[in-house]
Amino acid sequence: MRQIVSDNVQHETIADRFLSQLGNAYLCLPEACYARHLPRPIAQAQLLYFNPALAQELKLDANLCTRDDLTQIFCGNLLPKQAEPIALAYAGHQFGYFNPRMGDGRALLIGTLQDQWGQLRDLQLKGSGPNPFSKRGDGLAALGPVLREAIVSEAMQALGVPTTRTLAAVATNQTVYREQPLPGAILTRVAHSHIRIGTFEYCAAHGGEAMLKAYLDYAITRHDPDLIGVEQPALAFLSRVIERQAKLIAHWMAIGFIHGVMNTDNMAVSGQTIDYGPCAFLDVYSHDKCFSSIDEQGRYAYGNQPQIGLWNLTRLAQALLSVINVDGEKAIEQARAALSQFQPLYERAWLQHMRLKLGLSNEQDGDGQLVADFLSALEKHKLDFTLSFRDLAAMAVTQTIPATYRPLQDWCDHWRARLNNQTQKPEESAMMMRNANPRFIPRNHRIEQAIAAAVTHNDYSLFHTLMDVLSKPYEDQPDWAAYAAPPNAEECVLMTFCGT
Ligand code: AMP
Ligand code: MG
Repeated sequence: MRQIVSDNVQHETIADRFLSQLGNAYLCLPEACYARHLPRPIAQAQLLYFNPALAQELKLDANLCTRDDLTQIFCGNLLPKQAEPIALAYAGHQFGYFNPRMGDGRALLIGTLQDQWGQLRDLQLKGSGPNPFSKRGDGLAALGPVLREAIVSEAMQALGVPTTRTLAAVATNQTVYREQPLPGAILTRVAHSHIRIGTFEYCAAHGGEAMLKAYLDYAITRHDPDLIGVEQPALAFLSRVIERQAKLIAHWMAIGFIHGVMNTDNMAVSGQTIDYGPCAFLDVYSHDKCFSSIDEQGRYAYGNQPQIGLWNLTRLAQALLSVINVDGEKAIEQARAALSQFQPLYERAWLQHMRLKLGLSNEQDGDGQLVADFLSALEKHKLDFTLSFRDLAAMAVTQTIPATYRPLQDWCDHWRARLNNQTQKPEESAMMMRNANPRFIPRNHRIEQAIAAAVTHNDYSLFHTLMDVLSKPYEDQPDWAAYAAPPNAEECVLMTFCGT
């Protein structure tokens, strides 16, 4: 048992028992892929959030632990004796420019665990102090971004979007210096893996074919074990990542999510949404909406996300070229063919979401146009993306139109005619739509309010309320109607900021 801070013997037993099956599957990779490092001890940590449902998925028995035990474990003070934490190396294209050396500058991968389905999951502490990848950074996280990631990642999970999860959040009671002094925190992130597009860019830039092959084998074992032994594993893997990213980004578009910083180091090959920085949800629908303060050109605006997804996947293809085919020309040709699948996969996935959102149970020519016309009307009349879709469910079973949607009368007539042109009954369409169109999303102004209450008044009630309401986004929850509402003029969030 490794003891970092406390010499309380009971804690040793508890960390060992609680995380008894923790291993570190990354240690089979070449040593240049990571750096071993221990979390920095925290003197006065305080548990802010623990996710018992996720703990259960990970076969972690929280009943073994007191609140203090959980605090000590999730601030990194207590690790089981076999733990070998590491920070991962990766590279990445940041806003289009290649940065060959990045890595987990403010995160430590504590280890890997098998979940209740036998899937390997990563356990990572974000904000646990500087390590060899920190460069000039302090390796710390501020409370605001930690709460933000907890809220949005768990909301995404409840919305049905593939995402990394939040197992715990602790306050460190240490000051983190950004533009102003801020309270510090640590988030425990759970992911199917932390392998990014930038991971392969790192291998291609520094490790050559040997490292590429080792990481490729590793990624295939974790994410696509059915590809073990196929003739062209790198090409097959590339196709899988293309498919997962196409579906993921289609899902983002369908719920109005803007990632905000789609650098290649923030794109997981697992197809999970990762790295919640300046992310945001659309209120009023706007195709070119961009909230991020650091994205001056709008590179990662809402409507650009599919094309940026393809740009990022092209970087992955480029990194993998030497292992796709020994014949360079053939490698390029095969990578191009794989990449050409992105657009049709994306469009199919997007239209599937949109048909559900409009209550369409079969496929007809013109459905794509019907969706496009609806979105244009939302944009023209400055209507709320989430609530407009949600309200359509009620309109599927009546002939009336609420005043808000009168300007959409013509479109509604078309849509109702389309609904009448399928065998599914209106009630069934309405049900389908309520299950596809959330009433509750993590609205930017609500997130800001929850963070402000925590940071300035040490009041976590809004944070916990939000977590609770957002765990059932497709239910009506009439008591929480205020959390479904768009911001009023004073509440409107104009800009979001990176955690760093
Ligand atoms: P992100 O914007 O979170 O994707 O981070 C980009 C890169 O900067 C990653 O390599 C991070 O590990 C690194 N980084 C961000 N914040 C810090 C920090 N406070 N200390 C050290 N490295 C950081
Ligand atoms: Mg990142």
